[in-house]
Amino acid sequence: MKQINNSHEMQAFARESCRNGKSIALVPTMGFLHEGHLELMRRAREKADLVVVSIFVNPIQFGPNEDLDCYPRDLKGDLDKCQSVEVDIVFTPTPKDLYPDHFQTSVAVSDITKVLCGTSRPNHFQGVTTVVSKLFNITLPDFAFFGEKDFQQLAVIRRMVVDLNFPLEIIGVPIVRESDGLAMSSRNAYLPAQERAEAPAIYQALTYAKELFSQGNKNSPELCQTVSEQLNQNIKSDFIIEYIEIYDSLNLTQIKDTILAPATILIAVHLGKTRLIDNLQL
Ligand code: AMP
Repeated sequence: MKQINNSHEMQAFARESCRNGKSIALVPTMGFLHEGHLELMRRAREKADLVVVSIFVNPIQFGPNEDLDCYPRDLKGDLDKCQSVEVDIVFTPTPKDLYPDHFQTSVAVSDITKVLCGTSRPNHFQGVTTVVSKLFNITLPDFAFFGEKDFQQLAVIRRMVVDLNFPLEIIGVPIVRESDGLAMSSRNAYLPAQERAEAPAIYQALTYAKELFSQGNKNSPELCQTVSEQLNQNIKSDFIIEYIEIYDSLNLTQIKDTILAPATILIAVHLGKTRLIDNLQL
C-alpha cells in the first residue's frame, strides 16, 4: 500500500494507471475509520483493479460552530485498517494542497441540498460537492463508493455526477450498524457512556415506524410522530430532534401525507453535543 499526500502526484499516478488499462475505485472518507468505511473499501476491492481511499477532513463542509477542530483523527490506525482490506493507495492531501491561496471555485447542487440536513447546515453540501469533484478530478475513478448512512449526500452526489457528466459510476453501500443497531459513525466517539447507551433508541424508533408501515399505516406525519414519541420515552439524556421526515427514496422529495412510492424515513438528532443521523427504507 502506498500513501500519497500531494494532489499532483496522485493525479499523475491515476493518469498512468488509466493509460495502463487499470480501473480505479475511489472511497472518499474523513478518516477515523470504522467498519462502515471498511465495508465500502471491501466493495471497492471487488470492483476495480486499484482501490484509492482518500482521508481528508474537509474544512469547507463544516459550519462556523461545528466540530472541525475536534473532529477525531487517527492516521496511523487508519492506515493499518486500509492495509487490512487491501487498499492500494491512501490519498492524504493537506487543506493547503486542495485549497491553495486564491481558491474561489465551488460546485453546488441546488434544490435537494436545501432540505433535511441542508436546513441546519446551509453550506455543507456545497463543501461536499466541491471536494468530491476535486477528488474525482484528482483520482480519476471509474467507480466511487458512498454510504447510505449519508442518504442525502448520496442523492446529491448522484445528481451532481449526472448533471456534470462525470464519467464514473456511483455505488451506494447499505448502512453498517453496531450490534445494538446504532449506525456506525466517527462521531459516535464523542458520546459519553449514558448517551452511547441510549443512542440505539434512534434505530429502534425507525424500526418501529417500519413495522407500523408494513402493518398498513401509510400516513407520513403519523409515522414521524410515533418516532418522536418513542425517542421521548426511551432517551433520558438531553436531546433535540432536528428533523424526522419521510422522503421518496428515488427522487428525494418529501412525502407529506400518504406514502405511495418507495420511501425512506430520515432523522437527525442532537444527543447531548453530538449530532447523529440515520435513516431506514420503509
Ligand atoms: P465520513 O468519513 O463520515 O465522511 O464517511 C465516508 C463515507 O463512509 C461516506 O460515504 C459515508 O456515507 C460512509 N459511511 C460512514 N458511516 C457509514 C456506515 N455506518 N455505514 C455505511 N457507510 C458509512
